[in-house]
Amino acid sequence: MRAAQDEIMKIAVVGGGASGVFAALVAAHTAKKNRKNVQIRIYESNSRLLKTILVTGNGRCNLSNAEISAAHYFGAVDLFSSVYACFDRPAALSFFESLGLLTVTDSAGRIYPMSMKASSVVDILLRGLEKNGIEIVADTRITSMKKEKHGYLLNDAFYADKVIFAAGGKVGGSGNPSAAVYDLLKAFGVKCTYLQPALTAFMISDFTKSLKGIRTAGALTLSSERSEIAKMSGEIQYTEYGISGIPAMQLSSFAARANAKQLFLTADSLPEMKEEDFVRRIYSMKKSDPQMPMQLFLTGILPKPLGVFFLKESGASQECQLRHLTDALVSDLLKNCKHKRYAVKGLRGFENAQVTSGGIAGSEITERLELKKLPGVFVCGELIDVDGDCGGYNLQWAWSSGAVAGIHSVLEI
Ligand SMILES: Cc1cc2nc3c(=O)[nH]c(=O)nc-3n(C[C@H](O)[C@H](O)[C@H](O)COP(=O)(O)OP(=O)(O)OC[C@H]3O[C@@H](n4cnc5c(N)ncnc54)[C@H](O)[C@@H]3O)c2cc1C
Repeated sequence: MRAAQDEIMKIAVVGGGASGVFAALVAAHTAKKNRKNVQIRIYESNSRLLKTILVTGNGRCNLSNAEISAAHYFGAVDLFSSVYACFDRPAALSFFESLGLLTVTDSAGRIYPMSMKASSVVDILLRGLEKNGIEIVADTRITSMKKEKHGYLLNDAFYADKVIFAAGGKVGGSGNPSAAVYDLLKAFGVKCTYLQPALTAFMISDFTKSLKGIRTAGALTLSSERSEIAKMSGEIQYTEYGISGIPAMQLSSFAARANAKQLFLTADSLPEMKEEDFVRRIYSMKKSDPQMPMQLFLTGILPKPLGVFFLKESGASQECQLRHLTDALVSDLLKNCKHKRYAVKGLRGFENAQVTSGGIAGSEITERLELKKLPGVFVCGELIDVDGDCGGYNLQWAWSSGAVAGIHSVLEI
């Protein structure tokens, strides 16, 4: 397994996404620092590296967050914590700076490249690969691995002393090449947890298309039949199939891991207005303008189609005026505006998700990100059962885990 001091150690990185490229770069730096002779090669099934980076953060690449903690992650959270302790956000940002990329932080703590262009991140990382002599083998999907006396043979063709799997998850629509890696590792007895789409939208049962296109500030609560699971605030987006927007996407990560037969989303469309204020306001408007159409009253505080929908759901006609108000109708309107419950039909599929929930189980992996069953084989990034919130958390995991896998692929114990 060990290459002699003066021999060249061959490191194969499977997957040229965020974590794989970072693993290769950090491995090259570690080798240089420790005077180790390495040959690093990235095998990538696409024709180009770092394709996903270009679409991150709406083309701006939200590459980290000012507030990183285990509370923002799901799955193998202990593994996240030990990896992050070894290579944290400041380490990642200073590594980027050494490559030539500077960053900025917005008022919500999201960190972007200073250029606000994802393409800058790609260009700088590619330049780093070139400068460090890292070889790229594109258009090559790794589908098999054999254990040799010293090292591993990939696709019956490529020998490596060490292998870093950085094949990502199941999201995106490019033929799911990481499935081959999950299968390949499972054949060695490596356990993988159930894969589900996360950071995605909710599909709602019998959802009305009349709400499509509405974007409004609100709060969403995810619950099962028995209890509340989590609550998030932000811009709620209504689509033709259900509910999206950042709070919905954040809640989808909880939904992916919730073991419940039926889930519900409850929307508070008036998060800034207390219930008693709503009641006071509607009665005082009734007093001052009894002829006012109820629908217009709602338009004064909500996007019009939402008000129209809530009126219909409350059983009132669109012509109904404030003088027709009854206590029962006020109570129904209040319920719709502040506690409208939608039955969840499911989550949007992997093709619309930003991240995979689930992956190689934390119990299979050492703190060095080496597979316990396959010495010399490392894993990083979304392939592992770790996923984070929206806001730069997933890319930070890609940098941290890629770096840790890269360091330890070079440094032997
Ligand atoms: C639309 C979108 C927006 C996002 N926005 C953000 C954001 O703003 N901030 C954030 O933190 N996260 C964001 N994410 C999530 C983030 O992009 C991922 O978590 C991150 O890219 C994962 O990095 P990775 O290296 O593990 O996997 P990937 O980036 O998916 O890279 C894996 C690579 O491995 C290759 N590969 C797979 N199987 C094989 C094989 N068998 N042989 C050879 N090559 C293989 C793939 O082609 C791919 O290039 C977003 C994701 C999406 C889809």
